[in-house]
Amino acid sequence: MSDPNCIFCKIAARQIPASFVHEDEDVLAFRDISPQAPTHIVIIPRVHLSGLNDLTPDLAPLMGKIGLVAKKLAADEGRVASGWRLVSNAGPDAGQTVFHLHFHLLGGRPMAGKMV
Ligand code: 5GP
Ligand code: ZN
Repeated sequence: MSDPNCIFCKIAARQIPASFVHEDEDVLAFRDISPQAPTHIVIIPRVHLSGLNDLTPDLAPLMGKIGLVAKKLAADEGRVASGWRLVSNAGPDAGQTVFHLHFHLLGGRPMAGKMV
């Protein structure tokens, strides 16, 4: 459920401080320490999963919940009209650096380098 060496598990356990913007029984969200846009929020499940490659069918409700948290936070940040992006990096080619499943909510500037 939790990995003692994982920085996001430590944030979830309040062992490392973070600027939280959402918390419920399953999902947490906090501001990225190195923001790449005016809004850059990291959304994580409480449970430790290394990334998208750990997803299993029973986690479908959790993924839906994360999507709804992202939508709420984008609205809270005033990014609905201007637009926003939700990204999860999985593995080396994607540049994943923290191996606890997370989604980057980005907004507040045009997203350069459109990939898809
Ligand atoms: P990844 O590169 O794995 O997709 O994203 C990891 C993200 O976590 C990076 O954007 C990085 O800035 C952020 N991050 C790493 N360590 C911390 C931390 O201790 N606190 C916060 N708030 N963000 C962190
Ligand atoms: Zn973790």
